[in-house]
Amino acid sequence: EIEKGLQKLAKVLEKKSYFVVSSSMNHKLAEVPWKKMLLKKERFVAPCGDWTKKQCPDGCEEGIQTVTEADEEQLQESFKKLQTNGFSVPDLGKCPKCGKKLVLNNVYAGRYDEKGYLKTWTEYQNWLQNTLNHKMVLLEIGEGNRFPTIIRSPFERIALFQQKADLYCIDGEQNPIAWLLSLC
Ligand SMILES: [Zn+2]
Repeated sequence: EIEKGLQKLAKVLEKKSYFVVSSSMNHKLAEVPWKKMLLKKERFVAPCGDWTKKQCPDGCEEGIQTVTEADEEQLQESFKKLQTNGFSVPDLGKCPKCGKKLVLNNVYAGRYDEKGYLKTWTEYQNWLQNTLNHKMVLLEIGEGNRFPTIIRSPFERIALFQQKADLYCIDGEQNPIAWLLSLC
């Protein structure tokens, strides 16, 4: 259902200028066909990373690699164990430089290697600068306060300072009373 909803959203937005920012790490949002800007620039950025890349825990440059099919099987195995209260660390191979065990390239890595998303993040920032004095709708869907510096706080700042910007928060987890009070 969520996937269907996202496909619909992409369709609704087709003729608009937009950018999708996601802190989700399950890669589902990345698979939605968000349209590409002129010159094929991405309109999607996931600054928290996901499970499609791995990295060295110490951030060696050689460690950034794409997750293989064999890795994926290992990850699924570990995930299954977690569901039954077991625990196993997936073996994602070793860093070619320092030999440490590779980890997933996302915010939960000891030293998160941010190179994986910096290019699209810069594109997002450029796009954002061009929204000044344009009518703008900011939609925060289910983000809450997980990573407030990525979505929540910047969105609130934009809504505050840009007169033509409106912010809508759709959040199942948040307490609606607290939310109403914050509006008063
Ligand atoms: Zn290393």
